[in-house]
Amino acid sequence: MQSPGPLSSKLFAAAREVIPGGVNSPVRAFRNVGGEPFFVRKAHGSRIEDVDGKTYIDYIGSWGPNILGHAPVVITNTIHEVAKSGVSFGIPNPFEVEMARTITEWVPSVGKVRMCNSGTEATMSAIRLARGFTKRDLIVKFDGCYHGHSDSLLVAAGSGALTHGEPDSAGVPKAFAAHTLVLPYNDPAALEALFAARGEEIAAIIVESYPANAGLVFPKPGYLELLSSITRKHGALLIFDEVMTGFRLGKAGVQGIENLTPDLSCFGKVIGGGLPVGAFGGRADVMDMLAPLGPVYQAGTLSGNPLAMAAGLAQLKELAKPSGFPRLEELGAHFEQGLRALLSGKGVPHRIHRAGSMFCLFFTDREIVNVDDVMKQDLAFFRKFFWGCLDKGVYLAPSPYETGFISLAHTEADLDDTLTVFEEVLAGI
Ligand SMILES: *Cc1c(COP(=O)(O)O)cnc(C)c1O
Repeated sequence: MQSPGPLSSKLFAAAREVIPGGVNSPVRAFRNVGGEPFFVRKAHGSRIEDVDGKTYIDYIGSWGPNILGHAPVVITNTIHEVAKSGVSFGIPNPFEVEMARTITEWVPSVGKVRMCNSGTEATMSAIRLARGFTKRDLIVKFDGCYHGHSDSLLVAAGSGALTHGEPDSAGVPKAFAAHTLVLPYNDPAALEALFAARGEEIAAIIVESYPANAGLVFPKPGYLELLSSITRKHGALLIFDEVMTGFRLGKAGVQGIENLTPDLSCFGKVIGGGLPVGAFGGRADVMDMLAPLGPVYQAGTLSGNPLAMAAGLAQLKELAKPSGFPRLEELGAHFEQGLRALLSGKGVPHRIHRAGSMFCLFFTDREIVNVDDVMKQDLAFFRKFFWGCLDKGVYLAPSPYETGFISLAHTEADLDDTLTVFEEVLAGI
């Protein structure tokens, strides 16, 4: 069992007495790498500092939201200023309108949008809305796609391709899971067979437009188009979960890159500027089924919170500048190039996937098309690599199933230093 430092270790022991597993979200417990987490004292720019005073170059960025880096002045100043006028009102405020206007302008498929407080709420509400709109119960999701932790979406594949899903967590009733069908990702034949058999019962397909919670996986050419055409043909809705990719891979996320028009989209992470936010939006006729206009209930005491809206807007404004998305692509490309050069000829089996500022290094030479391929990488090797990097001051996700994030606060020098660390660590494995 590895542990970063004495003060972190002490805090983790104290935490475990009063917080289940010592953490408020499971991946933070470092179970996938067999060790203990460090506790953060502060973070600035590309760097995160633990309570023992050790500094790391951070490639997690709070799991996605911190696309400008840690504690960017534009966001901390905004929060400061806005907070002076109140931190929550529970009645409409002008920031909500500006946020909704910005989202609908940036994402053409979104005619109307509702704000909520997390990605989980966004996907949970979007599938309820899809069910209410279509008056059908079945939802289709894909193995390896993560959509937060609501009951209908914590479902794993059953034993046969056309069987009902099975609960993927204790506490999810079998009867709930039975309304969610789970398919392998990137498998057009499985999709076509399912829709041929049960297409008229399916309310929606929900998909991570680029699955990024089981490594980083890309759709095969034509696959997303197939999702779009098959849902249209059968009167089902297509829901893009862009909680991770939205506002990170450009103004309109993956749908902008791939030129697709989902019926509904889910957002979170980057739009909150580091504060707790989610959003779901899409076709105005579908969105108008929501209360108070329509029969689908959805609500939130803190939804549209002024601090979160203002922080998110400040972040989006930075991204819209020429120094925003193009710069993220430049940094991502620089890192990818260096990584490829470093690993070629080293005899380490690997695959590198990257989109903009998102990257994933897999220790396998298999082609990665879905979560089964991701699971077959050399996990023991990954663990050694992770701890070696952490020891030398590079913080990668403590799990081989996560995507790495580069922020606008990273410099080419940070990326080159990281590659040097990678080289040293690989030499020692
Ligand atoms: C993070 C994530 C969620 C869940 O968001 P939370 O804010 O953690 O509830 C849903 N979908 C995707 C694709 C995500 O990456």
